[in-house]
Amino acid sequence: MYDTIIIGCGPAGMTAALYLLRANKKVLILEKETIGGQISSSPLVENYPGVAQISGSALANNMYEQIDALGAEIELEEVKKIESGIVKKVITDENEYECKSIIIATGSKYRLLGLENEVDLIGSGVHFCVSCDGAFYKDKTVAVIGGGNSALINAISLADICNKVYLIQLLDYLTAEKALQERLSKKDNVEVLLSHSVKKLNGTDQLESITLDDDTELKVDGMFVAVGQIPQNDFAKGVIKLDERNYIDSDDAKTNEEGIFVAGDCRKKAYRQLTTACNDGTNAALDVIAYLDSYE
Ligand SMILES: Cc1cc2nc3c(=O)[nH]c(=O)nc-3n(C[C@H](O)[C@H](O)[C@H](O)COP(=O)(O)OP(=O)(O)OC[C@H]3O[C@@H](n4cnc5c(N)ncnc54)[C@H](O)[C@@H]3O)c2cc1C
Repeated sequence: MYDTIIIGCGPAGMTAALYLLRANKKVLILEKETIGGQISSSPLVENYPGVAQISGSALANNMYEQIDALGAEIELEEVKKIESGIVKKVITDENEYECKSIIIATGSKYRLLGLENEVDLIGSGVHFCVSCDGAFYKDKTVAVIGGGNSALINAISLADICNKVYLIQLLDYLTAEKALQERLSKKDNVEVLLSHSVKKLNGTDQLESITLDDDTELKVDGMFVAVGQIPQNDFAKGVIKLDERNYIDSDDAKTNEEGIFVAGDCRKKAYRQLTTACNDGTNAALDVIAYLDSYE
């Protein structure tokens, strides 16, 4: 029986594994897609302390090599269901495992616009996170897509860095809270385009412009998509308390079920970043170690 099964091999899961393996625990990591998680698709990371610049895939690979050297056991399987109890069960598309504790570190996915070549341009003009990539667009022109709180927070931050910011919202009104709308209205370099959507992304290796639904072409250097995130927590429904947006509802690493912990972007929290994911991974692992000490 495993001491801990970690679901998700992103930065949160790998940080938790690092602590648990160094504490000599028997650990299995289950990953359904890419070892490394979301960051693997980022061409350049500049906000991970101690490393000035690194590609996301190289950073993820460094994390993987560190846990691999400690003997990490990883299976590429998708978790479909978990069962609580003193002995917990983790059921994947291929196997059923037993363990004393579980760390859920399944992350989230940015919602895309569904446009042709959108995925190819991620990191080359198409972005999701201003605190990650906003600085690349100093003195440039960008578009933010969306009209909710995240979109406005992004547009307000970008307005301080960029020459010009377009905010493009499908509805004929902004859904963000009033205080944010007031802050946005004070930014002279932001142009809000309501009742518009992006029809086409132009550029092959790098985004050059976007075409709107009325065929207007806007020259932009970058586009930040802020139309929501999708947490990957469906398998935990009915066992773990989720909030109204499907994030695991917990203030720290402990969930409502004893011995089941959570780390990273899949949990309810304000900031979803590499450093916050690693922080969560540490907290979850240390809580697991304490839990295992008292496990009978
Ligand atoms: C393009 C891009 C660029 C980014 N750039 C930056 C940046 O520069 N700086 C920064 O701080 N942050 C950046 N981020 C955000 C950062 O990548 C995330 O905050 C971080 O990866 C979260 O880590 P995590 O381990 O919680 O989740 P994730 O990285 O999402 O990892 C979760 C893993 O769990 C797996 N999983 C999900 N469900 C299951 C299941 N049922 N069974 C098995 N496995 C499952 C997923 O496949 C995934 O590999 C960026 C994100 C993207 C998409």
